Amino acid sequence: MNCELCGKETSHTTTVSVENSEIEVCEECKAYGKEVFSADKVSSSKEKVLQRIKNKKRRKPSSSLDSESEKELAFDYSERIEGARIEQDLTQEELAKEINEKKSMIAKLEKSDMRPSENLRQKLEQTLDIELLEEIETTTTKKSEETGGLTIGDLIEEES
Ligand SMILES: [Zn+2]
Repeated sequence: MNCELCGKETSHTTTVSVENSEIEVCEECKAYGKEVFSADKVSSSKEKVLQRIKNKKRRKPSSSLDSESEKELAFDYSERIEGARIEQDLTQEELAKEINEKKSMIAKLEKSDMRPSENLRQKLEQTLDIELLEEIETTTTKKSEETGGLTIGDLIEEES
């Protein structure tokens, strides 16, 4: 067997790729080309890894958005309570009676002096037909901080 690069006779040749053509070369000339088979292996496993990374990236936003979105008492809960009470033409006393609480409790809630308990919040929501919770999407908030100018609306549109 002769090396196709230097022409030297050799007992063992290796197939390498030099400028897109495959040639048989000796051990010494191997360094000038890429070994064909190992090069293929490297590129295909690289592609698989890249594919895996891509898939991960694509799946991550929606799943973490779901798991990390939570509800919190709205910052303007006191205004919501007072506004809904007035709309329904109820006094603080009447509302208190309606939900079996003290009038002073309603007054405190409407002055933001007190946050309603889970149970109290539900009674207020049902009686006044309002929502006192707000959805807080922690993932989205973090993201918009990182990316700068994007609004929550932009991110939602991008991911759907
Ligand atoms: Zn050679």
